[in-house]
Amino acid sequence: MIAGNRTINYLRISVTDRCNFRCQYCIPSSPFKMIPHEKIAKYEEILKITRLACELGITKARITGGEPFVRKNIFSFLERLCAIESLKDISITSNGALLTREKIKKLIDFGIKRLNFSLDTLDPVKFARITGRDRFHQVFDTIFTSHELGISPVKINAVILRGINDDEIENITALTLKYPFHIRFIEYMPMGDSAIEKQQQVLTREIKEKIESKFGKLIPVKRNANDGPAKKFQIQGARGIVGFITPISSHFCSDCNRLRLTSRGTLRPCLLNNYEKDIINPLRNNATDDELKAIILSALTKKPSFHGLTDQSVKNMPISHMTSIGG
Ligand code: SAM
Ligand code: SF4
Repeated sequence: MIAGNRTINYLRISVTDRCNFRCQYCIPSSPFKMIPHEKIAKYEEILKITRLACELGITKARITGGEPFVRKNIFSFLERLCAIESLKDISITSNGALLTREKIKKLIDFGIKRLNFSLDTLDPVKFARITGRDRFHQVFDTIFTSHELGISPVKINAVILRGINDDEIENITALTLKYPFHIRFIEYMPMGDSAIEKQQQVLTREIKEKIESKFGKLIPVKRNANDGPAKKFQIQGARGIVGFITPISSHFCSDCNRLRLTSRGTLRPCLLNNYEKDIINPLRNNATDDELKAIILSALTKKPSFHGLTDQSVKNMPISHMTSIGG
């Protein structure tokens, strides 16, 4: 599928807006409503939309949320998703707290080779403060068990916030010295109403400076065709990679190959733009496959060339929060 001069081959599927964590930077600070159960796309519906999107050129999918593993019967869904032949690459973003060794083995049996986890601190007390849950050890175990079982790469997403975890940039980075992990520092994006203030946002330049003053000059790593938006580097002699995802300081919109399917069954061409195209209701009202494919294509015509969220305009945008869209 083509949007402007971008080829769209990557579908990010949010299977739920529910989450067992309460990360300060993700969950809105004021009360918010969960999507009613009947409005959440059923697995069967997600599979159908995915198959049609694959007929239009999608080859890569990521399952996200909310927390994907809180949704009931997620494993049988994943097994069916992995059976879609034209999907060559399926990965999952998770907080890792609900994954056991047995469950990771199951994912590997389905054919999932890559997992991304969120980990913003190596300090269990701080972990509980950031996520609202005392689950550091489970998450840490999941990360190392995934590595041990052969998941490769294991990617770790960290959002750095001033006064919260900006003193841990070096410690988190140091994991790459010993392990082949990909640590990705994601710039905090102001979404909906979050408890995080603008002054707490730490941009890539500052993170990179801290890393380089501790470990020496970061060496750029050549990008592969299928790489995501992270700009990748390595510390001299390290086994792992340090990546920076820079939606604020240097947007990567011109390379964006993604389309999102939200948990309420809308297509969202851009994470940071509120335009969404309903596909679930036409599907529930018996639209034909061709009609549904036309909806997918028309959503893509609305993919903006630039998300508009810049370093200068980081006031809280009146946009949906991350758990309902799928980060
Ligand atoms: N629950 C899963 C997890 O935490 O990995 C998947 C969903 S979560 C929304 C996906 C990613 O979005 C996480 O890596 C999280 O750190 C990131 N994220 C959430 N809110 C964010 C924000 N406001 N700015 C930047 N990244 C954010
Ligand atoms: Fe849940 Fe992930 Fe958001 Fe944290 S970042 S609240 S784990 S969805």
